[in-house]
Order: sequence, then C-alpha cells, then structure tokens
Amino acid sequence: MKYALLCNRASQLRDIALNQGLLRLSDLAVIVDPKVHDTDRHFAMCSERADEIRVAPQLADQPYPIIDGILMHEIGHAADFAYKGKLWAEMNTGGAPLLMMSRSAWRGWKRRTPYVVERHADDLAEAIFSVRIGYVGPLMLQSTEGGVRPRPFGI
Ligand SMILES: [Zn+2]
Repeated sequence: MKYALLCNRASQLRDIALNQGLLRLSDLAVIVDPKVHDTDRHFAMCSERADEIRVAPQLADQPYPIIDGILMHEIGHAADFAYKGKLWAEMNTGGAPLLMMSRSAWRGWKRRTPYVVERHADDLAEAIFSVRIGYVGPLMLQSTEGGVRPRPFGI
C-alpha cells in the first residue's frame, strides 16, 4: 500500500513534468528502496544521470504536503541533471516556457556548491509544479505547505 502510494504519486508528478515539456524525464524510474533512509531526514535521492529517483518507504508515513514537497524536490533535481543548465533553452522549443533564466546565469552550472544544487532543485520544482517549497519541522523537510523558504543552510 505504501509502496503503491509513493510510486503512484511520483508517477503523477513525473507526468506533470512531461506535460510541461521536460521530455528527457520520460524514462525516469521511481524505485522504492528502504536503504535510502540512512539518516532521519533522508527520504529520497535522484541519480546524477537523472534516470532514477529512489524513495524510502518510510516517506509514506509523512503528511501529504511533505511527501509532495520531497518528491517534487527530487524531480527538480532530475530536471536539473537531465538538462544540465540548458533547461531554459529546451523549454522554448515546444514546451511551455517554465523558466526565465539567462544563459549566463547557468554558465557556472558545473561549479555549483552542494547548497546551490539544492536551491536549484527547489527552484525547478516550484517552476514545474507551481508550488512553493518550504522547509518544516525539526528535521526541516520539504513541504508544499508553509515552512521556511529558501532552504536553510546546513541541512
Ligand atoms: Zn536535494
């Protein structure tokens, strides 16, 4: 049941991204993997090849806004990794223009700090899904309802 919930929701969210024109996410797989939950706040991860998102089954125990916030954040990573900073251009070749970003803004894509990579995942999630990603609770988990924005340092 939990696995089905997570996989179904992740698939729905991936389909929204595809409908936004992010066709490089067509083959993005969602895999439920208990080993992902190796720290209290680690519930999901995205491969740098942008071909799979691994989700801990423990995520299903969280409230829906957190499930969505985390899954959307990971799809933001996938979009970021799949398009490697060229997303702004891809979005103007048939898909809906999601982001108004200059080429120069993305020149440093490969030199980003881990914190900036996380911020870009949130920025892309917000653009794709028209939500606000905030950070809530003692573990500072992503959420689509309230919370601190932008992402705090050091989590
Ligand atoms: Zn992240």
